[in-house]
Amino acid sequence: MDDCLFCKIFKGEIPSTKVYEDENVIGFQDLYPQAKIHLLFIHKEHSKNVNEMMGNDPKQVADVFSAIKNYSEKEGLEKDGGFRVVTNLGSLAGQTVFHTHFHVLSGEQLGRFGS
Ligand code: 5GP
Ligand code: ZN
Repeated sequence: MDDCLFCKIFKGEIPSTKVYEDENVIGFQDLYPQAKIHLLFIHKEHSKNVNEMMGNDPKQVADVFSAIKNYSEKEGLEKDGGFRVVTNLGSLAGQTVFHTHFHVLSGEQLGRFGS
């Protein structure tokens, strides 16, 4: 997608601080972090949300969670207290970027969520 912010990020057309990359997925720092560690993991194939991603190819969801597993094990997030994975879909959830992304939050005690 030519006008998609996160497609531009993985193509390197917009700068980002990448923390992870494999054949299918990149992970990078969120520009406006909401926790000490706040990363975004995206698939290189564009989809607008996780339901569209599942409809296109469920393997893409597995690709992203494999990347999160690899990263969190290698960087010690799992053993250092864990992390949260969140994906927002639509306006009620506050989705603002319409390229499917998975927030990874960690580095401190996280609050409750849902309101
Ligand atoms: P959403 O609200 O759609 O679930 O999450 C979008 C996320 O993208 C937000 O947490 C926001 O801070 C982040 N974001 C928005 N623009 C940029 C950008 O240009 N670069 C990076 N790295 N993150 C961004
Ligand atoms: Zn995109």
